Amino acid sequence: MAGEPQDDCLFCKIVAGSIPATIVRETETTVAFRDINPQAPTHVLVIPKAHHTDAAALAAAAPELAADVLRETQAVADEEKLDSYRVVFNTGSGAGQTVWHAHAHVLGGRGLNWPPG
Ligand code: AMP
Ligand code: ZN
Repeated sequence: MAGEPQDDCLFCKIVAGSIPATIVRETETTVAFRDINPQAPTHVLVIPKAHHTDAAALAAAAPELAADVLRETQAVADEEKLDSYRVVFNTGSGAGQTVWHAHAHVLGGRGLNWPPG
C-alpha cells in the first residue's frame, strides 16, 4: 500500500537503519543522505520516509510530503553552501530511475550543463 514500508526497497531499509548511509539531514518525514556513486561534489538524495514509487505518485498521494521533500532540497543546498544546484527526479527506467522509492537528487559544486543528458 502507498506509504507503507516495502521489504524489498533499498531506501526503506535506509530509513529503517538496516542499511547504512551517510545521512546529512533528517526530519520527521524525510531523510537526506549522500549518493553512493556521486555525480558531482555535492550529490545528496532527499527521500520521504514513507514509500512512494516516484515523484508523481508521491505528489498525488501525499502532496504535503512532496513539499517536505522539496523544502529539504533547499535545506541541503544551504548546508552545502550551494549558490546554484540542480534538483532531479528521474521518473521511469528510460530516464534512469533505478530505485523505486521517490527521491530528489541534489547536485551541485560544479558547472551543470543545460540541457542535461
Ligand atoms: P535513480 O537512478 O534516479 O533511481 O537514483 C538512485 C540513486 O541511488 C543512484 O544515484 C545510486 O547511486 C544511489 N544509490 C544506490 N544505492 C545506494 C546506497 N546504498 N546509498 C546511497 N545511494 C545509493
Ligand atoms: Zn521504499
